[in-house]
Amino acid sequence: MGYDQMKEDCLVHEFELIQTIRSRQREYPWVKLGIGDDAALISTPEDTLVAVDLLMEGVHFDFSEVTPAQVGRKALAVNLSDIAAMGGSPHSAVVSVALPKSRGGDFALEVQQGLQALAEEYQVALIGGDTNTWDGPFVISVTVLGAPIRDRAIPRSGARVGDWICVTGELGGSRQGKHVLFTPRLQEARILTEQFEIHSMIDLSDGLASDLRHILRESRLGALIELAQIPVSEHIVHLPKAWEHALGDGEDFELLFTVSPQVGEVLIKSPPFITQITKIGEIVAGSGARLIYPSGYISDLPKLGWKHVF
Ligand code: ADP
Ligand code: MG
Repeated sequence: MGYDQMKEDCLVHEFELIQTIRSRQREYPWVKLGIGDDAALISTPEDTLVAVDLLMEGVHFDFSEVTPAQVGRKALAVNLSDIAAMGGSPHSAVVSVALPKSRGGDFALEVQQGLQALAEEYQVALIGGDTNTWDGPFVISVTVLGAPIRDRAIPRSGARVGDWICVTGELGGSRQGKHVLFTPRLQEARILTEQFEIHSMIDLSDGLASDLRHILRESRLGALIELAQIPVSEHIVHLPKAWEHALGDGEDFELLFTVSPQVGEVLIKSPPFITQITKIGEIVAGSGARLIYPSGYISDLPKLGWKHVF
């Protein structure tokens, strides 16, 4: 097959794929022009939150462990988690994919199915994207647009001395399945943001030990964490040093947030949703995080957590 013929085949493939994606896409009132033109046109009156994430085969996932649909779902879910962490509500998304030529069109459709199913669950409009093929591994990048639920987004920088540090759900062992199957904490973020004064918030993607430091650095404050209070996932609680996993595994996609002690007491006594909320420590003056062991011994929070190095 000559180059032109091959190019022709790929083009047909790409357009067919886009047509299929387009035909599966629901209509939403804020989308004036969706998939199918040179750019999408949306109409949203509010401030706009923008989150983007890039997932690469061989770095973030492996097809021996996850399905194409799960990767599509995750590429969107991680961004929904970021929008949730800002106290926002997502409305629209765009996706870019680099498809390995060897995997064929069904693979692309499977990825897309996983992504579109989750988008529909949360009423997020897929309004466009870019589709490329190559001889490299699979790469997918999703960008999500959203609106702050209150008049302002919740930053990492808003923690105050005396704040309670709280976390939703359980931590650690995410690699055993949660890292692809997790539910982005959008509902929880909505209720927290609408009904309570949340000072600062972040989603746990790199691990508690690492992500807490972002709040501390941005807020220019320190923290005291109680090891015994950390909600360790039932999947890893039997492991030796399970708490190290809870602090460092990452990809929990839970919400870490700080509130005044008054708000904290209400949240712990009468949680506003089924997902558990745990107080794991307090914000203090100074910098860095210290860990209180069950024995009472105090030391610096170990530097655990995921980081890309280059
Ligand atoms: P252009 O060359 O003008 O950028 P494309 O041919 O790349 O347009 O894309 C055609 C339309 O299909 C655009 O609306 C684009 O946003 C959309 N699109 C392309 N790939 C995807 C995808 N994977 N998912 C959703 N929409 C897509
Ligand atoms: Mg164009």
